Amino acid sequence: MSHRVLSPNRNYTTCHNPHDQQLVQLCGSIFRFLEEDVAVSSSPGNDILFGTQQDKENDGECEEDPKDIEDKIKFWETQYENLHTTLFRTTILESEIRNITKEVLRDFGNVCSCSRPVLDGCPSCRMREICRQLQKSGYDSGICKSKWNNSLDFPSGEHTFLDVIDNSNHKKGSVRVIIELEFRGQFEMKKGSKEYNSLVCKLPDVFVGKSDRLQTIIQILSNAAKECMREKKVHLGPWRKQRYMQAKWLRVTERSTGTTTIKPLVDDE
Ligand SMILES: [Zn+2]
Repeated sequence: MSHRVLSPNRNYTTCHNPHDQQLVQLCGSIFRFLEEDVAVSSSPGNDILFGTQQDKENDGECEEDPKDIEDKIKFWETQYENLHTTLFRTTILESEIRNITKEVLRDFGNVCSCSRPVLDGCPSCRMREICRQLQKSGYDSGICKSKWNNSLDFPSGEHTFLDVIDNSNHKKGSVRVIIELEFRGQFEMKKGSKEYNSLVCKLPDVFVGKSDRLQTIIQILSNAAKECMREKKVHLGPWRKQRYMQAKWLRVTERSTGTTTIKPLVDDE
């Protein structure tokens, strides 16, 4: 008896290009969600994806259009690809700053110089030390504070992180590199879907990258959060929105280099 397979005609399981390891990994990770779904769906013999969907239909949910399922797969696949490309692209400046940051974090140990010492160092002592070491290596590094007010769109908040401003390339002008020590945590979501959570897993704990690269990542993750909540039919928290995320790193109201504190230009958007 022949079994009709309703799978969209795409190679999720077999990525034929042996030279494209990255694509294989991406396909692999997408495929893994589907396999996990199957493990709970207990519908052997069915097409992996559709078997899962049919099980959900038993809960009284309305039938999902195969076209919607295909669009959903395509959406998440695109997010993985875009995030992967953005994260793996780097400049010499970014790698140098990343290496110094890594070294400081590795050697920092439990040396806290503040009044409330913490094992492994508190965030502000770690930031101060990274800032100091970057300055010793000749970089214009600072500790930035961003602050934004309550608005119709989102609640007020503030955030502290590090940056380096590089003016060495006269042609390119000023380049700003952001250093965020708890990057992944900013995007984690308890109610996230498997697809969303796996995307977040790809993010590094410590992010070091140019501000335009950060903007791209924020855009990808905000879109993903929006789609995830849409699929789950849950309201998206305003603090998940792209403009709120951008405010965290881009609405800097104070920048301190340890010796001077200046009110920097605010990228107000
Ligand atoms: Zn401390």
